[in-house]
Amino acid sequence: MGELLFGDLAEPGAKSKSRLIQEEPLQTAEKPLTPQSNSKPTPNKAESVKTITQARPNWISDRLRRIMDLEVVENPVEIGTIIQDAVGNDDISNTNSEASNPENRQEDSTNKEVSNRKLDLSAENTKNTEKPALKDKLTGAIQESHGHTWKSDRLRRILGENDQLDVNLATSTTETLVAANNNTADTTNNVAVTRVNNGSVVAKHRGTKMNQAQDLGSRIADIKGAERIKSFCYTCPWQCPTEVFVRDGKVVYTKGNPESPHNIGSRCAKGMASTYITQDPDRLRYPMLRTNPKGEPGEFKRITWDEAFTYIADKLKEIKSNYGAESVVYTCHHDPNTQFFRHLLGDLYGSPNNYTHTSGCEMDRRSACLTLFGHLFPMHDFENSRYIMLWGMNMLGANQGLWESRALIEAKKKGARLVVVDPNFTETAQKADEWIPIKPGTDGAMALAMCYVITNEELFDTEFVSRYCEGFDGFAEHLQSCGYTPEWAADITGIPAETIARLAREFATSKPAMSAIFKGSGYYTNGADAGRACYILNAICGEVDKPGNLHLKDWAPLGLPVSIPDEAKANNDAQPLHVAMGYPLAPDLPNARLPEAVINGNPYPVKALFVQSTNPVMSDPDTDLMKEMFKHLELSVAIELFMSETAIECDIVLPETSFYEHAEIRQGMYIDPKVVLCQPAIEPLGESKPLYDIVKGIAEKMGWAEHFPYEKWEDWAEPMMENVPMSVSELKDKGFWVGNRKYNRVPDGLPTPSGKIEIRSSAYADAGFSPYPIYTERSVIPDSEYPLQLTHSKLSMHCNIVTQNNPLLMEICPENWVEINSQDASKYGIVDDTYVMIESPKDKIRIKVKVTEGLVPGCVSVRHGHGFGHWAMGSTAKGKGAHSNNLMEAHTSPITGANCYNECKVRIRAAV
Ligand code: SF4
Repeated sequence: MGELLFGDLAEPGAKSKSRLIQEEPLQTAEKPLTPQSNSKPTPNKAESVKTITQARPNWISDRLRRIMDLEVVENPVEIGTIIQDAVGNDDISNTNSEASNPENRQEDSTNKEVSNRKLDLSAENTKNTEKPALKDKLTGAIQESHGHTWKSDRLRRILGENDQLDVNLATSTTETLVAANNNTADTTNNVAVTRVNNGSVVAKHRGTKMNQAQDLGSRIADIKGAERIKSFCYTCPWQCPTEVFVRDGKVVYTKGNPESPHNIGSRCAKGMASTYITQDPDRLRYPMLRTNPKGEPGEFKRITWDEAFTYIADKLKEIKSNYGAESVVYTCHHDPNTQFFRHLLGDLYGSPNNYTHTSGCEMDRRSACLTLFGHLFPMHDFENSRYIMLWGMNMLGANQGLWESRALIEAKKKGARLVVVDPNFTETAQKADEWIPIKPGTDGAMALAMCYVITNEELFDTEFVSRYCEGFDGFAEHLQSCGYTPEWAADITGIPAETIARLAREFATSKPAMSAIFKGSGYYTNGADAGRACYILNAICGEVDKPGNLHLKDWAPLGLPVSIPDEAKANNDAQPLHVAMGYPLAPDLPNARLPEAVINGNPYPVKALFVQSTNPVMSDPDTDLMKEMFKHLELSVAIELFMSETAIECDIVLPETSFYEHAEIRQGMYIDPKVVLCQPAIEPLGESKPLYDIVKGIAEKMGWAEHFPYEKWEDWAEPMMENVPMSVSELKDKGFWVGNRKYNRVPDGLPTPSGKIEIRSSAYADAGFSPYPIYTERSVIPDSEYPLQLTHSKLSMHCNIVTQNNPLLMEICPENWVEINSQDASKYGIVDDTYVMIESPKDKIRIKVKVTEGLVPGCVSVRHGHGFGHWAMGSTAKGKGAHSNNLMEAHTSPITGANCYNECKVRIRAAV
């Protein structure tokens, strides 16, 4: 099997308490849940929402309106169909030949003129009889994101809503921007217009950057005659299959691939906005070499690719000869093409240190999955579930995949009960039947207490645990001997003992059920065992890999793109860094420990670092330390789209192509085995290169050209697809391959040491940890000087560190903020929608504040704290919002080495 490929996903990672727990009894398997019972908010929930809305009229009402007040879409309207209606073109897919026809080019030119006129869809415009129907369809189309509704300013403009700017934006930097309705406009060359409504500034636009995306009329005109190419979106790691429309060498439109069961023709807002990446003026265009000393923000000169490859190859040879191949580390974001680098630096060069980024993502979850089930990345069969318990997992508000979000909504519609355990009243909690506002960092205590109730009251699945689980009896004794009762957990978690016991009984008796985690439980030093405890709930109730459970999916039979013969492979007995650092259970590199290896040579010297599509200076804790690390490297190479915060610290910066410009074949992040293809839709921007060509270039200078013999991407695609029942050419036409889903793998034996679900983990025991999960208090506790726990959660309109230079998304969500409970706000004199200073013992930041009831007292929640406050990347991203990672020291999980972003205490005050 090829590399299992996955990227960073988002999730809030906070915990705590509130008064919004519902205590009404739940219908169980004996008394089935009915769709009616879940179709409306309960009185408690409605009351809570009302309270919250009243408490925060300026902002949460919008948020809640988006998530709660609007209906879930039954049949999302496909925007491509709408556009076909609008242009009167029956099949815009069959227009390749038309595009080259001179007559059609003439038509295109006419349409370009049309494109500069506003497509008025407002009800008042009665001249065009098609428009009301079109408007209705567009209203449906905006609901395709994540199965619920959102409206961007752009879509409001399209819909002709009066309070929005109605503007034909300039097609060049010298044209005038025109505004209508109740707005005024500026006539600047580049930095666009200020929108004023009733005397208040409502937004500022960057004219040259927004022009292609704002006017639907021009989009429709552009799409006519475009070639349609099957591909996938890689704005976030869920890789929704797409159709990319290309005309005159430009991406003019993109939509979801309607045949794909994964996303059924839809894309989320981030995906729809992603075409901007193909024209972003801040993209890197050619290789660059640092000209000033390390430790200062880089000054670079342009070099050729040949010079870049020679420089890197010479340094690699020198470093290997001086320190050994293990002193070279590669980190990336799970792109499938990183496999090429693994062949280069791993197989041929001999470094055991080829890593990804999961210490900043869901490393504790991975460790729990691997040690319990022998599976790296279980999926969630929400749609068939009747009882879903999510721990710190914000499916609908963070950048979880479209299909899982849809499946969750479908499950709700079919009557599944959704319980969200989270200190934050997240977008998902707002959709839940019950929100359990737990204290931060205490998930493990509650999950263990639930296990206690289930074992003590003999609610477990006797046959399942005796046949398929290793160590169940010992686990039951462990719970008793440790005293993990609901009463014990109540003090720790802030959740009443009766509630914990009730939830345990509900979970054990509602079938099928699922207890799921992602990142939230893992942002603490006790996160690894918290994750195990949350997953063990599934095991002891016999709820693993059946319909409606955590699904141990099969992966597609993808091969490797190139094969390196054994005799060509380098020998190196050095341990991988994570093992040498003392984290044998870590499924990835404990990134926060890397500076120790680079700066102090501990556990062994690291002298060279490749960072590809990842930005550790911005995303890892202790920003100062990360920057310091780069001063001590003899070779640092960034392979990037932008001059990121990490790239400016590097010696050499190589421009990589975007997913619209190169090929990738990867495992689909879908419940069934799936292969997805990204194929080049347009030419690379500037001199940027795909990763497979960058590797080939370095390999040639190292004398290994024969191992990378491809001339075009299809050459390496063939061996990858050898065992998949679909040819490369069929894949190009369809965009994906899907295999059959198989349930109930547990009786066949799992790839764990015992072949069973390891409730008693032999891997933990071998590594010197408790074989059963235990609860330990997190390492940083607020005190009188710093009385608040810093926690983090994500935003649905942004993905990690990659979307903040996109003006479309920045228009919707231009900065991040911190949330604070109204009790704490009043205690510290904090006023909603103002700016505050957050101070930790290490640093301070200035950030906008939102006061809410939807967060437990005693903590603050910074939303998307690692993705805003850019000081590099690009002109749109720079300086917007606040970056929170330098507030924290580099705490890591003692078991997995995962970053503990929520191990930080802070205080808050109004900013002057
Ligand atoms: S969910 Fe991710 S992959 Fe899918 S459209 Fe949105 S950003 Fe793209």
